[in-house]
Amino acid sequence: MSDRAVFLDRDGTMIEDVGYLDSFDRIAFYPWTVDAIRMLNRAGFKVVVVTNQAGIARGFFDEPFVQETHRRVAARLAAGGAHVDAYYYCPHHPAGPVAAYAQVCDCRKPGPGMINRAARDLGVDPTRSFVVGDTWLDVGLARAVGARGILVRTGAGAAWEARPPGDLVADAVVDNLASAGAWIMTHPKSEFRNLKC
Ligand SMILES: [Mg+2]
Ligand SMILES: [Zn+2]
Repeated sequence: MSDRAVFLDRDGTMIEDVGYLDSFDRIAFYPWTVDAIRMLNRAGFKVVVVTNQAGIARGFFDEPFVQETHRRVAARLAAGGAHVDAYYYCPHHPAGPVAAYAQVCDCRKPGPGMINRAARDLGVDPTRSFVVGDTWLDVGLARAVGARGILVRTGAGAAWEARPPGDLVADAVVDNLASAGAWIMTHPKSEFRNLKC
């Protein structure tokens, strides 16, 4: 069993960022997503989705909608011989009008809560893992748990790349999830373990 994972942001990384995804017919895979995830599967990584879904706290959709979205994503991946080992989402937002979700939490990225849960559930070691996403929140999440952080230019990524935060540097900035997978493959375990955060 591998203790290494690739944590994937969903919107803007695996599928197109359509704002708040609120209907199933707006799920649009990037053309390389299935192949990239299958490659990570075969390389022995756990592949784990970690996604902020503040639309729940904002009342745009509910948890069953997000769960059904993930079932549909999983079906599409399965048809291409790929799989995600687990899906985690943060439904919260401090300013959300839906009272049940209007809270400060530790799972909204860049908070570490989702990866900490995955580490317990799946037995993965975040410090030997990667986070791939299209915002600095994803890179910040990587920093928060001691993982490598890769920014992709899809979704909001290209815009975010042009506005780097002063205190955060990505381990790599690449065009898309396929490039991120290739970057991960070229950083073997021994070298990886010697890197400092
Ligand atoms: Mg995103
Ligand atoms: Zn949360």
